[in-house]
This record gives sequence, structure tokens and C-alpha cells, in this order.
Amino acid sequence: HAKNCGKNNAKLYSSSLTMQIMSHVQLEVGLRKALQNGELYLLYQPQIDVGSATIVSVEALVRWRHPERGIISPTEFIPLAEETGLIVPIGEWVLRTACQQARLWQHGDDRPLRIAVNLSAKQFKDENLSQIVQSALQDSGMPAGLLELELTEGTLMDDARATMQTLERLRSIGVYLSIDDFGTGYSSMNYLKRFNVSALKIDRSFITGLPQDSENAAITRAIIAMAHGLKLNVVAEGVETGEQLQMLEQYGCDMVQGYYLGHPSPPENIALMLANRPVLDGSDSARAGKFP
Ligand code: C2E
Ligand code: MG
Ligand code: MG
Ligand code: MG
Repeated sequence: HAKNCGKNNAKLYSSSLTMQIMSHVQLEVGLRKALQNGELYLLYQPQIDVGSATIVSVEALVRWRHPERGIISPTEFIPLAEETGLIVPIGEWVLRTACQQARLWQHGDDRPLRIAVNLSAKQFKDENLSQIVQSALQDSGMPAGLLELELTEGTLMDDARATMQTLERLRSIGVYLSIDDFGTGYSSMNYLKRFNVSALKIDRSFITGLPQDSENAAITRAIIAMAHGLKLNVVAEGVETGEQLQMLEQYGCDMVQGYYLGHPSPPENIALMLANRPVLDGSDSARAGKFP
């Protein structure tokens, strides 16, 4: 009897495992076609300069509108795209689409606006990366300095020698480089010094508990101080409340990003935000009541 029971369990188990594998395979098959079927699209989230309360950068965040499953988050399909190598063509599409979109927003506006694009480790290791970046800049007419590439510590620390070469190549193109999710990976301070990036983005997990969480507050302050010591800009991710913003302003954080300042949104919404950008005169009255 016990044997039977075991068999049944095994059968149950294997059938649910089959289901999992099936859906994984189906997802992969679907992802292969997603690009050509036009199922991927980008949302954009503003990054706000604390001192002037204006948008200085906009981050592109990919979404997949699956014909049966609805909208799938990048946290679900980017790892699959990485595993299968599909991230290379998908990433190129993101880069080109974001650059073209940024160019449209910029039309007739001389205030500089960066467009930020996330790069995965596979893309960073791709030997064609610098050509792809140059070609995306050329085709869109975007100045290199207005393209921000976000890399994680994991990507950078993987192979120090190759990383230095790739970073140098990207630097020589003139793009703005930032380290995303800073504080969650393993960064060697020694490499950080030599990497020559422009900005650190403090991971959302440190911002979430502010202002109450005194440990996260200490970490946040320390990252800001270190970044400034290294002459890097520092961005806080995941800012959801006015109190968090206030605290970050006190700490001297340069830029903020998060739901409090704007959710990831379709391009039309960003166009509206850009149209309503205040004209800065640098006076205190221009700064007063600047945030929502
Ligand atoms: P990330 O680059 O660190 O992006 C920030 C994530 O936090 C986004 O999630 C954003 O929607 C979310 N977020 C922003 N503000 C807040 C906030 O105030 N509160 C909370 N709770 N969340 C906030 P999303 O769009 O789901 O993207 C997740 C991750 O997927 C990204 O993290 C990035 O690592 C990856 N990803 C997204 N688009 C791409 C892409 O085009 N290429 C690559 N390689 N990765 C991408
Ligand atoms: Mg990012
Ligand atoms: Mg991040
Ligand atoms: Mg991330």
C-alpha cells in the first residue's frame, strides 16, 4: 500500500514538474518570437536631480505583452533571455528603441536629457557591444554623452581584465556609465576606484526602510559619502515617500528615482512631464515647493 502511495506521489510530482518544464519551454519558444511579433515594449521612469527638481535622465524598462499570459515582468523573462542568449537581440532592440525615443523627446528642446538602458552580463561580454552601441547612437542621432548604460556589480566583477577593456571601449565612445543596484553585489573598492564610471545607483533595498531603519540610513549615508569622495554622482532608487526624499536631500544625494517621483510610464507621459519641466532660474523661489 505504502508503495502505491509513493508511486502516486511520484506521478503527481512528475506531472507538476512536467508542467513547470512545459511552461518554461513554452515561455522560451514564446520569447523567441516576442521580438518579431512586436510583443515587447518599453516603459520609462524619470530620474530627478534633487537640487533643481528636474528630470535629468529617463530609464527604459522592458515589458512583454504575452498573447495569452498578459503582461510579463522583466524579473521573470530577463533571466530566461540571459540563459538562452536571447538577451543579445532583445537588448539591442531595447537600446535602439530607447535612443530613438529619447531623440523624439529631445526634438526642439535644448535641455539635455539622458536615456538610461540596463545592460545584462551577456550583453556586456558580447564582443560586438561597442559596435552595437555606436550604431544605435549613429542611427538615432543621439549624442554619446546622453546615453547612460547601467551595469551591475556582478557584471563588472566577473572578469576584471575583460571588464576594464570593455569599460575603456565604452568610455572612449563617450557614454555615461552607472552601477545599478549598488550595494547588493560584491564590489571590490579597489576596482571601483579604477572602473571610471560616472554614477552609483543605491539599491532600492537600502532606501525602502528609510527614514526609520537606522542601519539602512547609515549605509545610505556611507555610500553617498564614498561616491562623492570618488567624484561619482549618486542616485537613490526606489524612493516612495516624501520623508525618504527629504532624508536623501539632507544626505546630499544627487538624484532620485522611484514611485514618489514617477512610475515607469509610456512615452507620452514622459513627454508631458518634460513639457512641464520648470524653467530654472536658480533662485530659492524656483526651488520652493519643487517636489510633488
Ligand atoms: P532595475 O534596473 O534596478 O530597475 C528598477 C526596478 O525597480 C524596476 O522594476 C522599477 O519598475 C522598479 N521600481 C522603480 N521605482 C520603484 C519604487 O519606488 N518602488 C518599487 N517597489 N519598485 C520601484 P522592473 O521594471 O520590473 O525591472 C526589474 C529589473 O529588470 C530591472 O531592475 C533590471 O535589472 C531588469 N530590466 C528591466 N528592463 C531591462 C532591459 O531592458 N534589459 C535588461 N538587461 N534588464 C532589464
Ligand atoms: Mg536599472
Ligand atoms: Mg536597480
Ligand atoms: Mg536590477
